Amino acid sequence: MKETKYIFVTGGVVSSLGKGIVAASLGKLLQARGYKVTIQKFDPYINIDPGTLNPYEHGECYVTADGCETDLDLGHYERFLNITATRANNITTGRIYQNVINRERKGDFLGKTVQVVPHITDEIKRNVRVLGNTGEYDFIITEIGGTVGDIESLPFIESVRQLRWELGKNCLCVHLTYVPYIAAAQEVKTKPTQHSVKVLQEQGIQPNLLVLRTEKNLPKNICRKVALFCNVDEDAVIQSYDVQSIYEVPLVLAQQHMDEIVLKKMGVVNEKPLKLDTWTGFLDNMKSAEETVTIGLVGKYIELPDAYKSITESLLQAATYHHRKLNLELIHSEKITDSSVKELLGGLDGILVAPGFGQRGIEGKFITLKYAREHDKPTFGVCLGMQCMVIEFARNVVKLKNANSTEMDISSPYKVIDIMEEQKNLAIMGGSMRLGAYSCRLDKDSKAYRAYNDELIVERHRHRYEFNNKFKEQFEETGMKCSGINPETGLVEVVEIPDLKWYIGVQYHPEYNSTVLNPNPLFMSFIEAAIGERSRIDGEEEK
Ligand code: GLN
Repeated sequence: MKETKYIFVTGGVVSSLGKGIVAASLGKLLQARGYKVTIQKFDPYINIDPGTLNPYEHGECYVTADGCETDLDLGHYERFLNITATRANNITTGRIYQNVINRERKGDFLGKTVQVVPHITDEIKRNVRVLGNTGEYDFIITEIGGTVGDIESLPFIESVRQLRWELGKNCLCVHLTYVPYIAAAQEVKTKPTQHSVKVLQEQGIQPNLLVLRTEKNLPKNICRKVALFCNVDEDAVIQSYDVQSIYEVPLVLAQQHMDEIVLKKMGVVNEKPLKLDTWTGFLDNMKSAEETVTIGLVGKYIELPDAYKSITESLLQAATYHHRKLNLELIHSEKITDSSVKELLGGLDGILVAPGFGQRGIEGKFITLKYAREHDKPTFGVCLGMQCMVIEFARNVVKLKNANSTEMDISSPYKVIDIMEEQKNLAIMGGSMRLGAYSCRLDKDSKAYRAYNDELIVERHRHRYEFNNKFKEQFEETGMKCSGINPETGLVEVVEIPDLKWYIGVQYHPEYNSTVLNPNPLFMSFIEAAIGERSRIDGEEEK
């Protein structure tokens, strides 16, 4: 296509409607018609990035390959579109203001009063077009975080309004709203949608398409009514009803021809058919799987499903490729004690010990890992999970009493996990961890190598602490192998116990690198081992 087209996705009524999923699903459909698509998210909060927010505030913090801490929606974009996002794909109000203020200090605006309009809005518009200006993409989908009507999203909405004038036919607005079902009256209500469109119109934007989030399929007359009151074509009122899996959403939108309507409205003539075979193949596998694989995810944010989003999606993808239903048990590490461990973990096919920060719940992770190691359960340690594997092994096998990580106990006599050299004198907390993609060389005689079938791999990181190489020999002599090493720095990235069926810890986050079409090899291998464990448990029960 000659010119890059811009699609904006805004949201109304309430948050958490799944704007990211709708944006990713529309992106998937355009991609499936042969276009080059990327998605970016503009978040109205003032933090520079979500890196310093805890999961209660913001769910998982997703990390891009180029080392940017971003919103979890970026994970959806990568998983749906199989693309690699960069720091240009997630911008916050904080970054916009920081750029403008830096320029003001430099003297770029000498003599002028610096204001929200035009300086902040110009900076937003410049950022919206950064990826488009590369000439690489046919479509740039921009999701505007928050809900219309919020004070903080105003400059973004104003920028979209201006861009519509500048871009003309190359710009389109999709607005996502909510249509609640009032059980007592047995009615669905469109008033919140009407109000939210009105707010958008007051701010100068007439949406071209509406996506209505609903629990149930809406009758035709409801969509007609919304179209009439919101100045939108009837066929451009799309509904997104609840489905079992987020990966079904592209199909729900395709059934209503959302991609064709978007193309038509943007004046794009398309002869290429919608090619979603591999996608639907994945969904068929997911739906037809009868046997299950049960994985216990041990962490401390168990009540927050979004805190481990990429991990749960990676497990689901790998289980689906193995034609198994994923039965995920979220287990609170604070609940795991010597007396509860057998009951909580005994029936699992595999255990994943989650990443995290700080002391809370850490003892439960050690008890989990001791149990898993002694009972030879397939076990996967990710980042802090890997560090806990090392600490547990140090205490109970190498016999280093009170071994710990410097993060948990600064006075530990054996700091088997220690702060990385370059982290020691850091004075700032934001964006200062070891972040993004680094390479790792795998020992050819290791389970990790067999999983990847590759010697040199690249995975993404987010941590400050690291395996203490002073203890490497002692660990290897007593049975824990350091099977993945960073070739430049010598940092240990993978540990495993070769004598066990599948006991692997990784300092990196393989979950950031697993998509629907390319599941991460280590997750694939872990699920395979867990399926083996299931057959073993079943066999024993039959005896
Ligand atoms: N808290 C640990 C560190 O900073 C692990 C981080 C993580 O699990 N992402 O090294």
